[in-house]
Amino acid sequence: MSTQTIALIAHDGRKPEMVAFVKEYYDILKNMKLIATGTTGSKIQETGLEVSRKLSGPQGGDAQIAAMAAEGDLKGIIFFRDPLGKHPHEPDVQMLLRVCDVHNVPLATNPASAKYLLLGMVEETESK
Ligand code: PGA
Repeated sequence: MSTQTIALIAHDGRKPEMVAFVKEYYDILKNMKLIATGTTGSKIQETGLEVSRKLSGPQGGDAQIAAMAAEGDLKGIIFFRDPLGKHPHEPDVQMLLRVCDVHNVPLATNPASAKYLLLGMVEETESK
């Protein structure tokens, strides 16, 4: 069974939600390879999960994750973006969403959909 790789990103206003989410699904996530943008990754590491950290979002982290998605290296992306804030890296955010659609990469932008994304990934592993 090959380990599934998933990327996790949260804008500042949604980092508490991301931390709560990864704690709730710790037992599933600990069996996956986790990639995250810089600051999101640090917060996730504090829960005890192992994470490979990319650059911070505004420094190009979203773009690095989009590149992984384009190359087929990600099974899914959980991206809790802040729909109310303004972001200096908005073009990168849009680019990431677009790349997911171009390459049909599962993308969840809120905890309710992220739950089903993760459960779907688990089901896929178990049915192999
Ligand atoms: P961060 O980046 O995890 O480094 O805060 C996320 C983002 O702003 O896209």
